[in-house]
Amino acid sequence: MINSSIKIPLVDLKAQYQSIRQEVNESIERVLENTSFIMGEEVKKFEASFANYINTDESLGVASGTAALLLALKACDVGPSDEVITTAHTFFATAEPISILGATPIFVDIDPLTYNINPDLIEAKITERTKAIIPVHLYGQPADMRKIMKIANKHNLYVIEDVAQGHGAEIDGQRCGSIGHLSCFSFYPGKNLGAYGDGGGVSGTNTELLATVRKLRDHGRVSKYEHDIIGLGERLDGLQAAILDVKLKYLEEWTEARRAAADKYVERLTGVDGVLLPHVTQNVRHVYHLFVIQVENRDATLKYLNENAIGAGIHYPIPLHKQPAYAKLGYNKQSLPHTETAADKIVSLPMFPEITDQQIDRVVQTLKEALDKC
Ligand SMILES: *Cc1c(COP(=O)(O)O)cnc(C)c1O
Repeated sequence: MINSSIKIPLVDLKAQYQSIRQEVNESIERVLENTSFIMGEEVKKFEASFANYINTDESLGVASGTAALLLALKACDVGPSDEVITTAHTFFATAEPISILGATPIFVDIDPLTYNINPDLIEAKITERTKAIIPVHLYGQPADMRKIMKIANKHNLYVIEDVAQGHGAEIDGQRCGSIGHLSCFSFYPGKNLGAYGDGGGVSGTNTELLATVRKLRDHGRVSKYEHDIIGLGERLDGLQAAILDVKLKYLEEWTEARRAAADKYVERLTGVDGVLLPHVTQNVRHVYHLFVIQVENRDATLKYLNENAIGAGIHYPIPLHKQPAYAKLGYNKQSLPHTETAADKIVSLPMFPEITDQQIDRVVQTLKEALDKC
């Protein structure tokens, strides 16, 4: 008999904390004792571990994923009258920093199978104002970086990876975050590697740009009271760095648990009428930040799941070109057809490393009931 009274959340941060409680608490105490609250040794230590994890020479701790994108764009000298090509099927913060700098986001439609930016549509959107491309590795599946880097190199554009959902994702064995000129990570609590507050990271292959980001995150400083350029205060704090350094040791294990949970969903949902499962591209490692399916009668299905204690959600219900904040960009309903269709049909099922087989079974059974009724 399935117990349907206890809610299965979309993400269970509590279960994960319980599993590493002592180590995390000790690391917090150590930071408090050392009063290394801003930057300091803990941040340096985490930056080195994280660079090693994604296989780059360098990674920089910053205040959030949004700050990472803002600093990266600023390092690429993106400003008024510039255009940056990206996707509308993402979290708002992918495009927001472009607009904050006075530049214009140019939205390209997605590949309907992977939900990532369709590289074949990029070149048609390049103008003399285009400065950069921001591919998003959405839901934990790498965007088509090989094609995107080729286009960028041909047109002399920067590529800034949005890896907020792709910690540990790989293309042909190469980690996301080690391919673009700059790459931006989020350590928001619900992300695959999440802090206990805001946090973010910048890595990449262009050392000069990284050196600029290093200054920009800390008031353009080169020494305590010497400021080379105009920057911001967007640093990673010591407590978050210490917590992240503990959690990073478990990230591979957690990622494999996500992948195993995804396999179980796929196994149980294969052949179920009315469900479109995730499409995984060849030669990539999908890290399943989210497990997203499509159903025809989405709103009724989601309502049924939620009413029956399944914490399903939508990522994301309103594409960026349809957000009120971007109404002035003048997109219409036909502009990005695959983005619009996805937004109407997607459902994110509960996905976290600690999810049990019984929980997966209950999600699947409730979904089948929903499909029968809706
Ligand atoms: C979470 C997220 C961000 C923003 O990260 P924050 O740390 O919340 O500022 C940016 N892009 C994508 C795709 C995200 O999922």
